[in-house]
Formats: sequence, structure tokens, C-alpha cells
Amino acid sequence: MAPAAFSYESLPARVVFGAGAARRRLAAEVDRLGAQRLLLICTDGRRAQAEELIAPFADKVAGTFTAVRMHVPIEVAEQARKAATAAEADAILCIGGGSTTGTAKAIALTSGLPILAVPTTYAGSEVTPVWGLTEGARKTTGTDVVVLPRVVVYDPELTASMPTELAAASGLNAMAHCVESFWGTRRNPISSVLAAEGVRALANGLRGLGKDPDAPAEVLYGAYLAGVAFSGAGSGLHHKICHALGGAFDLPHAQTHAIVLPHVLAANAPGAPEAVDRIAAALGVEDPVAGLRELARGLGVPAGLRDVGLLEDQLDEAVALIAPVVPLDNPVPLDAVALRALLQAAWAGGPE
Ligand code: NAD
Repeated sequence: MAPAAFSYESLPARVVFGAGAARRRLAAEVDRLGAQRLLLICTDGRRAQAEELIAPFADKVAGTFTAVRMHVPIEVAEQARKAATAAEADAILCIGGGSTTGTAKAIALTSGLPILAVPTTYAGSEVTPVWGLTEGARKTTGTDVVVLPRVVVYDPELTASMPTELAAASGLNAMAHCVESFWGTRRNPISSVLAAEGVRALANGLRGLGKDPDAPAEVLYGAYLAGVAFSGAGSGLHHKICHALGGAFDLPHAQTHAIVLPHVLAANAPGAPEAVDRIAAALGVEDPVAGLRELARGLGVPAGLRDVGLLEDQLDEAVALIAPVVPLDNPVPLDAVALRALLQAAWAGGPE
């Protein structure tokens, strides 16, 4: 079928992918970037690993910031910006998951410093120009190409250390990026191709975690495609729901995504038949809603939002927060009653 008219913006980022790439190629990438005074950002938990990786170019690391917190509270962003100024940093090296990358982005947003990202989860933030900051209970996101890392070094040896539960939830979060790309506000045929291949690689890799030694590389490849697809297509209903829930009720980001995704696909399916077909084909199943749910359950993800801390009497507040931000071009118009039904099912954890 000939594509309808579309626009697609490919973003300028250099990507280096391979087992051992962080050990073998990071120093050359720092040189290539011309950085002399890096601010290293990592969590305390990843610090030993990060220090091992920077050992060959430790003389170019002018400071380290480890006070990373999920969803980048504004106070953390301000501390990190001060750390960059104190170190007279000319670039930021972030080694870690989406929270670490998000902290680097908060610095880049106000300073314009280039980021070299070494992801250790499947969050995908490293290939998006999307930043997020949390003030009080409200998370604000925005898009600015200045926060897009200039270089990303993907190394499946780093993600392989994730505990299975985190790997599963993080991989399913990447799956959410792919699925949402089919109806994101800027959906286009290029993002859809990347998203379909991402769904295939993620599903295949996630099913093999703990059994197949190549599985982490396949999941990481899928996570990269997911991030690029999501950047191109933009976010939609699913991300509006997850950002509102994460910001207002402090729910775990990746698990929230994994739980909500099949419910959003089920709600949007009647208005997005092509997406349904392509996701089903990529998953290798007939019913992609059941396929996504089965994949998540097989990976030990909790069934419902009630299992990750959301209280049933918080659902009305959730509906009030989300209803005004439901995208106008969502494949299926969703009023507050339909939204409440979706959230109730996601909370309970059963099929719709
Ligand atoms: P995270 O970065 O918060 O990491 C979760 C935990 O896992 C941390 O304690 C971390 O130290 C640990 N960890 C990281 N890598 C590990 C490894 N290899 N082995 C063992 N432990 C490891 O979680 P996340 O899911 O990667 O990122 C979530 C955050 O990223 C959210 O704030 C989300 O909003 C943001 N995000 C942003 C975008 C974007 O485009 N801006 C995209 C995706 C996610």
C-alpha cells in the first residue's frame, strides 16, 4: 500500500552498538567528542561499574554526580546543574538508566552541554529529545533537541546485570514506546517500520532472557529502535496515562507502563486495525492484547496497578488528571467514563 503524505525528522545522534563497546570504545568516543572535562553522572549503585569504565580516561573526568532520583525532581536538577558548573564541565557522561539520562538532560536543557550516554537499562531516553522534570507531585515533559545525547554507546554487557524483574519491566517499557508509536501524534510510516521491528526484537529477546545468551543484545537493539520510533512518532494516550500516574502517585515507571499497555491497546484497537495487525505479526500471535499480557505475565510483571501501590479510591483523581490530556487524535475518542473503565481494568489487573 502506498504511504499517505507524511513528515519525518531523523535526529542527529551517533550510535555505537556491541557487546563490550563500553569497555573498548568509550575512550575513543570521548576523544571524538573533543571533551576534556566530563561530568560523570551515575547512581551510587552503578558507581563501581562506571568507575571501571572511565578508568582509561579518568584524567578527563572533572566531577561526579550520583544524587540521581527517578523522574528528576527539580531540586536534583538544580544540584546537578551546580555540579556541572563547579566541575567546569564541557560535556556530560551519563552511565545508567533513564533516571540518570534524565538528570544529564536536565543539565543540557539549561547549559547546552553535549551528552554522551551509556544506557544500562532499556528505557530508551538516550535517543529521544524529550526531557522530564518533577516539581511537587507534577511531572512536566518537553522536547528540545539540545537534550538529545550526541553519542550513545549501547553495550549489552551492561544491561545483562539487571535483575530479571528490572530487565523485564524495562524491556516492556520499551515495548510501550513501540506500540505507542503506531498512534503517536506524529505517526508516520518510518517510525512504524522501526516500531514493528522493535516489537519483534523486544518480544524475542525478552522471551529468551535468562536462557539465551544473545537475548540481552536483542532486547537492547529493540529498545534502541523503540526510542527512535517513539521520538519520530511522538507520545500518545499511553504515555499521558503513565506520566500522570507516575507523577501523582509515585508509581514505579517501568512496571506502570508494562501493566497499562495491553489496556491501552485494547481500548485503541477498534480505531487502529493496521497497528493491531502489525503488532500481532511482530509478536507472532493472533491477539496482540493477549500477546502483550502473556509476555508481561511470563516475565513476572505484577498484574494490576493495585499491585504496585495505587489505591482504588485514587482512580477518580487519576481520571480527573488524565481526561483533559487525552490526545484529540487518539484512534478512539475516550470520554471520562471509558477512561475510568480502562483504568479500573488496569488497576484490577484483569482483562477488560
Ligand atoms: P532508572 O534509571 O530509575 O533505574 C532503576 C534502578 O535500576 C536504579 O536503582 C538503577 O541504579 C538501577 N540500574 C540501572 N541499570 C542497572 C543495571 N544494568 N543493573 C542493575 N541495576 C541497574 O529506571 P529506568 O526505567 O531506566 O528509567 C526510568 C526513568 O526514565 C523515568 O523517570 C522515565 O520518565 C525516564 N524515561 C524518559 C524517557 C525520555 O524519552 N525522556 C524515556 C524513557 C524513560
